[in-house]
Amino acid sequence: MSSDSQDKKNLIFSSAFEVREVGIVTSVQKFIVIAQGMPSCVSGQMVEFSSGVKGLVIGFTKKEVQILILGSASEIRTGDEVHNKGRFLSLGVGKSFLGRVINSLCEPQDGKGAIEPEDFYPVFRVAPGVMDRVPVDKTLETGTFSIDATIPIAKGQRQLLIGDRLTGKTTVALDAVINQKGKNVTCIYCCIGKTYSNLIKILDVLKTKQALDYTIVVSGVASTTPGEQYLAPYTACMLGEHFMHNGGDVLVIFDDLTRHAWIYRQICLLLERAPGREAYPGDIFYIHSQLMERAGYLRPELGSGSMTFLPIVEIQQGDVTGYISTNVISMTDGQLYFSTPLFNKGFRPAVDLGLSVSRIGSKAQWPAMRAFSRNLRLDYLQYNELVAMTQLRATGLSKEAEACLKRGEAITQLLIQDKSKPAAMEEEIMQLYALSLGILDNLSTSEIRKFKDEFFSKVKDWEPELVTQLRATKEINDPAIEKLRKCLQRYFQKA
Ligand code: ATP
Ligand code: MG
Repeated sequence: MSSDSQDKKNLIFSSAFEVREVGIVTSVQKFIVIAQGMPSCVSGQMVEFSSGVKGLVIGFTKKEVQILILGSASEIRTGDEVHNKGRFLSLGVGKSFLGRVINSLCEPQDGKGAIEPEDFYPVFRVAPGVMDRVPVDKTLETGTFSIDATIPIAKGQRQLLIGDRLTGKTTVALDAVINQKGKNVTCIYCCIGKTYSNLIKILDVLKTKQALDYTIVVSGVASTTPGEQYLAPYTACMLGEHFMHNGGDVLVIFDDLTRHAWIYRQICLLLERAPGREAYPGDIFYIHSQLMERAGYLRPELGSGSMTFLPIVEIQQGDVTGYISTNVISMTDGQLYFSTPLFNKGFRPAVDLGLSVSRIGSKAQWPAMRAFSRNLRLDYLQYNELVAMTQLRATGLSKEAEACLKRGEAITQLLIQDKSKPAAMEEEIMQLYALSLGILDNLSTSEIRKFKDEFFSKVKDWEPELVTQLRATKEINDPAIEKLRKCLQRYFQKA
């Protein structure tokens, strides 16, 4: 901006409300453009360079506008024009995006042709207010036994998956996606800063499990520009909001927010913003909390849609006290802590039940699940303590201690689960009922595995209405319990 008269010259009123301005690029620094001559632009607005590349206004000084390039920087030169149509960044949304891989500008990346959007939504939308929401208490079935039984997740909840590298975080999140098949939940997987080969593996899993039909993959892989990586979680959230506002349930996975914070730090250091703790900019808490607040369960007048978030945060050597991890812990409703020692011991999914927590608690469970899983976590933690003690003194154990050990071993076998094999909620309830009867306490590891593999399909054959009734009512009454007991008797007589 050179002078006031220059500013006015740059303003072109194309309609009563739309201000069109043309600025000039004064410098290009990697993926940041500094421009002059757009006096009325505000943060979050979309601008377009003369080469057709889009940019996002992310800050300004008294004289200059700072623009994040959302595309190739190589075509932008000093002296180029920048067009500001006075619009906030909004992108296409709709059902047509299901089954597709897109970048953070909603452009297809899978070579399957153009996508026709149903509508356009702002990328940076204000989260629904308190009065627009209702408390979250409907179960989101993750299909992972340890989560559904002990740290359940509700629709509309934000549950953080936190752990070291290679501890199975992505696997648990993908299992939750696979388990939404036929459950009317739209899934969005947002990949931030991961390698392209990582994304290909994830797409393979989704394809082989036929989960891609109800899933949108937003790719902000490491090879895309920092601007696109920064934008990816907001785009994923925006796509979810469309389904939520139309009364649908949505599950969004952000894999992972640590890398998102790194990208934002990189952008801000280039903009010469003052670095704070761990060299992150001061508003790093804001940019993540602004995103996390957009999850929720809308009230019936607004369609009862919901959006559940599973953000992933990577830590180092089990240290949760880092800046980004403590920030995200404080803005989510609970966390699943993935432990490297457990993972290496073969306890997979390696969710540490002692360190994981959910502020929603058993409210998020089916009543039938609540009834049978009440003591599970305590029993398991007691067993772990006892195992630690008996390593010192293994003889002369009391009867109670022996029973506790046996029960603990059975629980361990139930908690261990193969990847990409989510279990139905009914199946988990039935396994817990068998556990409560003490039937599993005297079985060997291989016998429990066999029971887990076979029993549910047998019940579906023998008592199909027991399974359908359980899903319909989510409760289990005395006659149903009796039927289940008979099924167990029949199974173990045959075995
Ligand atoms: P990263 O830090 O690279 O993102 P991550 O924590 O997301 O890793 P995954 O990629 O999900 O971890 O899993 C790491 C490895 O462990 C993968 O090879 C996966 O196949 C294996 N794995 C994860 N969960 C299980 C499981 N339940 N059973 C068997 N293997 C598993
Ligand atoms: Mg991962």
